Amino acid sequence: MATADAHIDVALIGAGVMSATLATLLRKLDRGLRMVAYERLDRAAAESSDAWNNAGTGHSGFCELNYTPERADGSVDCDKAIHIATQFQHSLELWRSLVAAGELPAEATFLREMPHISFVTGADVPYLRARAETLVRSPLFHDLEYSEDRGRIAGWIPLVMDGRPAVEPVAATRVGRGTDVNFGALTRSLINWIDDEAGFGIRLGREVRDIHRADDGWLLDIKQLDTGDERTVHAKFVFIGAGGYSLKLLEQSGIPEARGYGAFPVSGQWLRCTSREVIERHHAKVYGKAAAGAPPMSVPHLDTRWIDGRRELLFGPYAGITTKFLKAGSWLDLLGSIGIHNIRPMLSAGIDNVGLTRYLVGQALLSADERVELLRRYYPSARGDDWELQIAGLRVQIIKSDGHGGGELKFGTEVVTSADGTLAALLGASPGASTAVSIMLELIARCFPEKWASSAWQSRLHAWLPSLATTTSG
Ligand SMILES: Cc1cc2nc3c(=O)[nH]c(=O)nc-3n(C[C@H](O)[C@H](O)[C@H](O)COP(=O)(O)OP(=O)(O)OC[C@H]3O[C@@H](n4cnc5c(N)ncnc54)[C@H](O)[C@@H]3O)c2cc1C
Repeated sequence: MATADAHIDVALIGAGVMSATLATLLRKLDRGLRMVAYERLDRAAAESSDAWNNAGTGHSGFCELNYTPERADGSVDCDKAIHIATQFQHSLELWRSLVAAGELPAEATFLREMPHISFVTGADVPYLRARAETLVRSPLFHDLEYSEDRGRIAGWIPLVMDGRPAVEPVAATRVGRGTDVNFGALTRSLINWIDDEAGFGIRLGREVRDIHRADDGWLLDIKQLDTGDERTVHAKFVFIGAGGYSLKLLEQSGIPEARGYGAFPVSGQWLRCTSREVIERHHAKVYGKAAAGAPPMSVPHLDTRWIDGRRELLFGPYAGITTKFLKAGSWLDLLGSIGIHNIRPMLSAGIDNVGLTRYLVGQALLSADERVELLRRYYPSARGDDWELQIAGLRVQIIKSDGHGGGELKFGTEVVTSADGTLAALLGASPGASTAVSIMLELIARCFPEKWASSAWQSRLHAWLPSLATTTSG
């Protein structure tokens, strides 16, 4: 067995928003932990967490219609939207505590208030009305506004109403305190702050090549990509926060809990507005309904963004087919992820999701004019010359064995942990970054159960997330 060149308490694989959040929380709970994040690229948060690679929506269920499915009787199931709104409150609370303590820079460097609007036409109007009537009963949605009045909606979203046929019924909801989040800037700020303290380090340009069991933890084989040097590090606890590469590393760990998982990548593209005049006329995130057969996270939206201190306007994402699991990945990633343990679930999920495959192929084959046609459903007078193509990040969806040889395609995220709690991985893509704090709290509770239950950890946690104290004591 290999011997270790170094011993640490916590190894984080990948320097995206998930690793940064976990490191921040663990640092608050135990300042004595020695933690190191290993990142294969030369910059933190350069994959899915980068601002241009995701939509930057602080997912709160305010505008995303895929979180509120319609039931057969016409009523609307709002449970998921309420759950996600609660989770996002935890993220906001932690970030604001860190800003207040001077441990994150000013909020405007990574988060801006941005109205969240849902917009529908025609036969979808009764659905949106029923959704609004249900949601507004929850305190988290108390200020959700609903309107079918064209003039009022035009006041909210002039671009969306400009040139729209007057005969078409329309409806919209609005929550003014929605957010746009630059998850890349947030991640780099979180990591910069913790990097300043003794006991936490980031190693850029280092790829974790393999993971093996060791006494009291794990051995990681790590390659320094510019020199080719290799070393082995011993860690008592490992978090696999490698985005699209998490499944591969989880499989390398050999834990039985990894068996039966497969992965299915979906690529993304935006239309990015180049006209400052158009950009200045829009101030909202406007989400509509997904097209038939579309994966839930591919609902198109017309989004004001704040990136690097500048207002931007994006439309999309247009989904597409890829075999890579990361933007800086390999075309062989999908093939390499298929093995004896997951081939049946993967084939079965493929057969069950022919509609999705057809949709993705259709999206991949869209011409430039067809993309602008889709944009015009949201912005009827859009001019093709005002928009250029921008490549988004990849979402690697989970395929999970159903235990009977079949497989199911999942659109959420899932934390997989070893039975002894010394290794954890995050699989899946959505709602993702917005719910990073809740996801990482769940992970800590599962992997460090005794310390988690201790009054020392609970009181440290409540100092940064006071609402959790109210929830658990109430
Ligand atoms: C098109 C799109 C739109 C999205 N929109 C939203 C949104 O509006 N709101 C929202 O909340 N979420 C959104 N998401 C999801 C969100 O971007 C992700 O949930 C989040 O960024 C995942 O963070 P992560 O840290 O897990 O992964 P990543 O940010 O991908 O980080 C993983 C890191 O691991 C590194 N790595 C991989 N393998 C290794 C290795 N072997 N050794 C060392 N390093 C390694 C990678 O280089 C990478 O830097 C969107 C995603 C996409 C693709």
